[in-house]
This record gives sequence, C-alpha cells and structure tokens, in this order.
Amino acid sequence: MPIFWECDRCTACCRWPGQVKVTEDEIRRIASHLGLLEADFIQQYLRLSTDRTRLILEDREDGACVFLENGNCRIQPVKPQQCRDFPNLWNFPGFETQCQAKPIHLNPDVWRERVREATGRELP
Ligand code: SF4
Ligand code: SF4
Repeated sequence: MPIFWECDRCTACCRWPGQVKVTEDEIRRIASHLGLLEADFIQQYLRLSTDRTRLILEDREDGACVFLENGNCRIQPVKPQQCRDFPNLWNFPGFETQCQAKPIHLNPDVWRERVREATGRELP
C-alpha cells in the first residue's frame, strides 16, 4: 500500500539549504497575495538559481526561506508547487531523518485523495 506522509509542520524543509523554484504563474499569484507589483516582488524576494536558468526564492542569512516567519509560511495559500509536493511527490534518500512527517499506509484511492488535498494535483 502506498505511504502518505502527513506533515506535522515542523518547518525543517523551510530551513534546510536548497532552492525553491517559482514559475511565472506562481510569481503572479504570490506578488498579488503580497499586494506587490511583480517587478517589485521579483526584486525583493527572488534571485537566480545557481545554474542561472530559473528564479528561486531568496534565503535569509541563516539559510531559511525568506517567507518563513515565526514558524509559519507567510505565503501558505499561494506557496510554490515545489513546497506543496514535498515529501509525497518528491523527496530524497534519508529525508525521514530530518522531516517529521508521519507515514500512513493507505489504499491507493485514499492515497490519491490525500495527495490531491495536500498538493492540489489531480493524479491519474
Ligand atoms: S515558501 Fe513557505 S513552504 Fe515554501 S520553503 Fe518558503 S516558508 Fe517554506
Ligand atoms: S514536510 Fe516534513 S519537514 Fe516539511 S514541515 Fe512537514 S513535517 Fe516538517
């Protein structure tokens, strides 16, 4: 049976080093959510990825995401798909040692529904 990872909002994934990519649609949505012009949002909160092919969220000096505030995501309703998809649709070997999500074994139909709720994605 597939495993659904139930997030306990420990925010570790918002604090470890990495690159959160944002699409053009996400830039529009997040800028609107923050009440900013897209150009101002890009200037204040984004930078180029290390391979210089994508825009990614800025980090704070300690490496945490720029939108992590007081243990919460400041842009939770419009956070990037990359954030929504972790850890159910992507993760990495050993992520369970850092991520506090609880593994729940579900039948495939219930798993798809839980993943749809968590990520907003319709799975085949
Ligand atoms: S956008 Fe929100 S969920 Fe994504 S890394 Fe930043 S604080 Fe975490
Ligand atoms: S996905 Fe994992 S690391 Fe991220 S907030 Fe949820 S439990 Fe924590």
